[in-house]
Amino acid sequence: MGKSKGRNAFFHFLIHIQNQMKKEGKNFGLNNPELQTIAGDLWKDMPKEERQPFELMSQKEKSGVNSSAKVTIDITPKSYKEQKGENFGRSAAMCSANIDDEQSREEFFAKLVESFVKSFKSKTELMDAPIFIVGTNIMIRTESYPSEYYPLEIGISRYTIREGIHCTYHEFIDAGKVPIGYMHMANDWSKTSHKIPLDNFDPAVSDYKKLVEDIEQILEESRFTNPVTGKPTSMLVFCREDAVEQNAGVFRWLAQKYQSVVPGFEWDVEFLDLVTLVWNITNFIERPISQPIAENKLTSSTYDYSPNTNCEFHDEQDNYNCAQGLTRRLSYILTDMLCPLFEIRPTERHLPPKINVVVDAYMGRINDVNTIPIRRFNQALSLNDNNWSPNDDNDQQRHHQSERPDSSASSVQRRPQGIGRGRAVWKK
Ligand SMILES: [Zn+2]
Repeated sequence: MGKSKGRNAFFHFLIHIQNQMKKEGKNFGLNNPELQTIAGDLWKDMPKEERQPFELMSQKEKSGVNSSAKVTIDITPKSYKEQKGENFGRSAAMCSANIDDEQSREEFFAKLVESFVKSFKSKTELMDAPIFIVGTNIMIRTESYPSEYYPLEIGISRYTIREGIHCTYHEFIDAGKVPIGYMHMANDWSKTSHKIPLDNFDPAVSDYKKLVEDIEQILEESRFTNPVTGKPTSMLVFCREDAVEQNAGVFRWLAQKYQSVVPGFEWDVEFLDLVTLVWNITNFIERPISQPIAENKLTSSTYDYSPNTNCEFHDEQDNYNCAQGLTRRLSYILTDMLCPLFEIRPTERHLPPKINVVVDAYMGRINDVNTIPIRRFNQALSLNDNNWSPNDDNDQQRHHQSERPDSSASSVQRRPQGIGRGRAVWKK
């Protein structure tokens, strides 16, 4: 594929403008539409000579990358490596407070997404790449530093471009008592947003050990092999950029609970921006969707009231502020953007099912889904579990798996076969 490696001149200009604005006290992420518009307008009217330094930076970067071996994408910015030593992949989002340099942090995440996409060798492989999308609802976020996020609900969907939503994991979480001084805020937020009761909510689980281990098990599949080190990366989950802090906070809260079981436990997970993912995927197949367009799509309300999208509780309330619903709606939007480019015809797992289509056959399936207990890794509609199998040829995955404490615990065995056991392969 004749893809150019390294970033183009405009990208370097974008970083330059980002830094300029930072000096004016405006902290924009590289995906921020406002920043991109400002930089885009300036760039359009810029004389050649002024563009030259950025062209040079780009050329330099590109030649640097091209002159080295085939795949040598170092996803780790220097400053980050120094901070983290060998463990560069560890929970950057959670350690973000330690990384002073905003730019290298952004660069780290952007490169991580880029190498994730580039680790797939072809368009076909990319279509089968499992993309894990996470969503959360919280009771409150404390004013302390760093903020604590008390979780009430979590949803994770596993999506591939070819198959759509494969599975969705969903739980309500018992966050305990509302911290002193936050009662008003917590009530208010519940009333105006997710409506999840703050106490005595029956479906909420307080078995944090199981929660953490289940989530770990599911996300294990999201690692890929870093071409530089040859080692598996952290687990990768995607969400919208504006949800990264909250999702990372929820994971941090769960980790703290889990530390009473496994002292010193830390997640090995990164929270990554879906916009960057869309840009990298579409760039990979040489039909790029720009970041502002992707951002617009991913924040649109197109699927807010889609059927069979929210969890039961939120479905009954007709309330789309559902963690599960969010991950599914983001999946539908990915379908809208990516399936046409990959020439894939969306199925009922790609988009919200239309109730009026083949009602009989369809209702049967919905009933099946409803009989699955709420506290489980639910299968998507019409998923045939026989199609799952652990990937036996991936030694690293298996090796890592065997290091996990309690990997044969009963909670694991109750799970439907094949789920979360190393990199699953979709057999045709
Ligand atoms: Zn919900």
